[in-house]
Amino acid sequence: MDAKLGQEARTELLGAVAPRTTRSATRRTRTAPAPHVRRRPALLLGALLAGGVAASALSLQSAPAASADATSVLEAQDALLATDEGVEMLPQASITVAEAELRLKEVAASRAARDEREAAAAAAAAEAARPKAVLPVDGARFTSGYGSRWGTFHYGIDLAAPMRTPEYAAMDGVVLRAGSASGFGLAVYILHDNGDVTVYGHMDKILVEPGQFVEAGETIALLGNRGQSTGPHLHFEVHQGGLGGKKINPVPWLAARGVEV
Ligand SMILES: [Zn+2]
Repeated sequence: MDAKLGQEARTELLGAVAPRTTRSATRRTRTAPAPHVRRRPALLLGALLAGGVAASALSLQSAPAASADATSVLEAQDALLATDEGVEMLPQASITVAEAELRLKEVAASRAARDEREAAAAAAAAEAARPKAVLPVDGARFTSGYGSRWGTFHYGIDLAAPMRTPEYAAMDGVVLRAGSASGFGLAVYILHDNGDVTVYGHMDKILVEPGQFVEAGETIALLGNRGQSTGPHLHFEVHQGGLGGKKINPVPWLAARGVEV
């Protein structure tokens, strides 16, 4: 695109300059500024001698317009191009305003595309860097494991921490249920893309609702002591293959995802 525009600009330049050429091309295109300046007094003199007042007016009109003292560069250049002969011209290159505007739009579009690529790359990097799985409570005490307990079976693990400590989604998922749950007081169920469901119980306050997508590490609730609980803690379960599936030991399930309890 750039090369094409450049080529068009040169073509237009030649078209604009060539018809006005009355002297040899070498003089027109290669003349240094010094002879250019030197010629002007001779031109003025010749005009004065030949045409008197009328010619004088013409010279006064054309010479200053092409000089470095002109107040408008555009007028000076136009005047130079309009001069029939006797004034040696250096090449002028130009494109139309429409072409320039098109070029500006192309640059803006190119920058917008670049910004979009950079934003996408940054988002991909952030996505790659964030954890795929987390411990549902930070700094908790492991107070009870999965297995037989007090003549019954404990289908999860207990993580004790101060009241209203944030509880996190263990992995990305969608909230299936959130609300009252017998024995748990309150509970949240999250379905993950591998089909497993994680269950969180006893919280003091639930911060998500069914249908909500949550990321691993996102706060879903504040730890509590509701239901059949002997102190503030999170009861955490994993239902393999879906809600109502086999309740497996969460410790190896977390360990398989790089999370140590
Ligand atoms: Zn428990």
